[in-house]
Amino acid sequence: MTVIYDKVALIGLGLIASSMALAMKRAGLARQITGYARTPDTRATARALDLCDVCDSAAEAVHDADLVVLCVPVGAMAAVMADIGPAMKPGATLSDVGSVKKAVIEAVSPFVPDDVHFVPAHPLAGTEHSGPRAGFAELYDNRWCIVVPPEGADRNAVNRLIDLWRGMGANVDEMDADHHDLVLAVTSHTPHLIAYTMVGVADDLSRVTDSEVIKYSAAGFRDFTRIAASDPTMWRDVFLSNKEATLEILGRFTEELFALQRAIRTEDGDHLHAYFTRTRAIRRGIVEAGQDTDAPDFGRSHKVR
Ligand code: NAP
Repeated sequence: MTVIYDKVALIGLGLIASSMALAMKRAGLARQITGYARTPDTRATARALDLCDVCDSAAEAVHDADLVVLCVPVGAMAAVMADIGPAMKPGATLSDVGSVKKAVIEAVSPFVPDDVHFVPAHPLAGTEHSGPRAGFAELYDNRWCIVVPPEGADRNAVNRLIDLWRGMGANVDEMDADHHDLVLAVTSHTPHLIAYTMVGVADDLSRVTDSEVIKYSAAGFRDFTRIAASDPTMWRDVFLSNKEATLEILGRFTEELFALQRAIRTEDGDHLHAYFTRTRAIRRGIVEAGQDTDAPDFGRSHKVR
C-alpha cells in the first residue's frame, strides 16, 4: 500500500470516477476519497455502493483535497471548474479524464487558480455503460493513460499524477494536446462515428426487418452496436470539442472508402486483398501489444443466450 495523495476528490461519479475510486482503494493510493455528482439519485447510488465519501456540494468535496479530478462530460467541465476553483486548496493538483484535451484545457484553464497545478489526463479505457454502478476496479489494468502536461507544468505534480495512474494499473504516456486529439480521432472518435452511422443505416433500411438485424448480428453488425450504445451526451461533446481532428480523419476515411468502392466496381481483387492483408496485420499488432485477446468472437468469454 503506497499512499500517493492524502485526499482525492472526484467530481462526477460515473463509470470513470467510480472505477478510479475502486482502483485507488484496491491499491491504497489515497487516505480519503470524496466525491460529488449533480443529481441526488447518483449521489444516493454512490453512497449505497460505498464508493467514497459522497458530499452534497462540489465545494465540500474539493475542500482540502490534494488532487481533484473532473470526471464529468467534456462540455460540462468549465462550469464545474468555475464552481470549485475558489474552494480548492493552494498547491493542490487539478486533473480531468476528458476524452478531448485541447478544448478542455482552453475551457477549464481560465478558472484554475494560480496556486493550483493543472495536469490534464485521459485514460484510454471505458465501456458502453454509464453511471456509478458501471465501475470496476480492473478497468485501467494494462490500459493506457495519456497525461497532457501544459507547458511549464510543475514536474512534481505531473510525476505524482503519473504514479497514481500507474498505481491504478495503467501504463502512462505523455503527449501534447494537439497530438492527443489527432491520435484519439483515429483510434476512438472516428470509429465511434462510423459505428453510430452503420447502426443508423441498418435502422433506416426498411427491407431489413428488426428481427433479421438482431438474428444475424453476429456476422459483424453487433460489434458496431456495442460501440454505438455509448453514452450520447459524452459523444456529442467529444465531436463538438474535437471537431478539427475528427473532420480531418473523416475526410481521409471517405477517400479510402471511395477507393474501396472503386475497387469493388472495377473488380480489382488485388487491391482489396492487399488492403485487407494490411488491416489484418494491424489487428495482430493490437493483440501482440496486449490491448485485446486473440480469442475468436472478439474475446467474448460467455455465450449470449
Ligand atoms: P458517466 O458514467 O455518464 O458519468 C458522468 C458523470 O458526470 C455523472 O456523475 C453525472 O452526474 C455528471 N454530469 C453529467 N453532466 C453534468 C453536468 N452538466 N454538470 C455536472 N455534472 C454532470 O460518464 P463517464 O463515462 O464516467 O465519463 C466521464 C468523463 O470521462 C467524460 O469527460 C468522458 O469524456 C471521459 N471518458 C469516458 C470514457 C468512456 O468510455 N466512458 C473513457 C475515457 C474518458 P449525474 O449522474 O448526477 O447526472
